[in-house]
Amino acid sequence: MNLQERLISRFLRYAAISTQSKPESRTVPSTPGQWDLAHLLMKDLAELGVTDISIDDHAVVIGRLQARLPEGHAPVPVVGWVAHMDTVDVSMSPDIHPVIIRNYQGGDICQNQEKQLYMSVEDHPELIKYIGQDIIVSDGTSVLGADNKAAIANLMVALEVLAENPDIPHGEIYICFVPDEEIGLCGAKSMDIRRFPVDFAYTIDCCEQGELVYQTFNAARAFVNITGVTAHPMSSKNHTVNPILIATDFINLLDRGETPEHTEKTEGYIWVTGIEGNQLTTVLKLQIRDHDRKKFLAKKEYLKACTEMMKLRHPKAVLSLDIQDDYSNIKDAITPENSICVDYLFQAMESLGIEVKDIAMRGGTDGSYLSTKGIPTPNYFTGAHNFHSRYEFMPMGAVENSCKTTLKLIELIANG
Ligand SMILES: [Zn+2]
Repeated sequence: MNLQERLISRFLRYAAISTQSKPESRTVPSTPGQWDLAHLLMKDLAELGVTDISIDDHAVVIGRLQARLPEGHAPVPVVGWVAHMDTVDVSMSPDIHPVIIRNYQGGDICQNQEKQLYMSVEDHPELIKYIGQDIIVSDGTSVLGADNKAAIANLMVALEVLAENPDIPHGEIYICFVPDEEIGLCGAKSMDIRRFPVDFAYTIDCCEQGELVYQTFNAARAFVNITGVTAHPMSSKNHTVNPILIATDFINLLDRGETPEHTEKTEGYIWVTGIEGNQLTTVLKLQIRDHDRKKFLAKKEYLKACTEMMKLRHPKAVLSLDIQDDYSNIKDAITPENSICVDYLFQAMESLGIEVKDIAMRGGTDGSYLSTKGIPTPNYFTGAHNFHSRYEFMPMGAVENSCKTTLKLIELIANG
C-alpha cells in the first residue's frame, strides 16, 4: 500500500469510533468512546514496535519507541508527538461517516445524497486546489474529525514506515494520545508529565498544508462573583442591590474595541462569555486572550481594578474575582537552547518543497499547555481544511505531505 492508502485506511479505522467530547461532563475523558479508542491505539502501538505502553486513569496513552542509531552515534534529542483522541461537539452527530471522493474533478461535492447535503465550490473555493486528489469529507451530518484523527493516522503510518524499514535511523520517540482537547485541553492538563520525558514535542493539529504554529494565545478564564442584596420590591428603595446590574456595569468598563469581533492577528481581547444569575447572586464569565504576555497580564490587572472599582461603587455588594490560567503562548517557552525544535520544522518542510505558512494562532493547542510545563511543543499542519464544521475535508495529497513532514522530522533529528 502506498502512503496515501495507508493514511486513508488508518483514518477510517479511528474515525469509526465515536469520540466526541462533552463539555458538560465532569470526568476525563468526558465520553466512553475515548476509552475505546485509547485501547485500540495501545494495541496498534504494540503491533508497530512501540514498547512501555501505558494508560492512566484519564485514558492518556503513552508509548516509547526505542532509538535505532548506528553504533557510536552521538545522542540525539528525545522527541514526543501528541495527538488528541476527541472530536469537537458542535451540535452535530457524534458518529462520523467519512465519504471518499476518488480523483476529485472539480465541482460541488455531494456529501449526502439522501439528505441532499453538498459542499459547494462557491462557498469553498479552496477545493479547486485539490483537483486530481482523493478527498475525504463527512456525510454532512457531523464533522469529519480529521481534527485530530488525521494526526493519529499520520503518527501510526510513520511508525509503520519505521517498523518496515529497519535501515531508517531514528532517535528515541514518545507517542502520546490525550482525550478532551476540545473542551479546554483537559486531557493534556490531566497528564502526569513525568510519563513523557522528552526534550521537545510536536502536535499535528492545524489545518492547511504548510501551516506551522509556535505562536499561540496566552489564555485565562475569569469569573466575577457578585452577591447583591435582595428583598421584596415593595421595600426595595435604597436597600436592594442588583448583582445583574453590577455585572452589566462591569461589562461597560471593558474596551469594546478589544473583543473577538474587533481584533485579529496577534491582538488580544476580553470576551464576555456568560452572565448567569438572579437578583441575589450573579457570575460574570470572561475569557482573556493575548499573544503578548505583558498585555495579557495587564488585562488581568485591569479586571482586578474593575472589581475594586465595583466594590467602591456598590459597597453593599460582595464581589470577588477568580482568574484561572488555561494555557500560554508556546513562543514564550522557546529559548535559544531549545529553538531547534522550530528550526527542524522549517527545515523539514523546506526540504520537502512545502511552502511554510508561519501562523500566529488565535487559540491554543495541547502544546500551549505542555509548553507551560517546560516541553516546547510547536504544531504543524494535518493538511485538512475547515476544522469544527461539517465542511471539514482531507485532501489526501496534503495529508500525505503532513506524514512526510513527520518522517522528515524524525530523519533530521536522527542526523543531529
Ligand atoms: Zn484539534
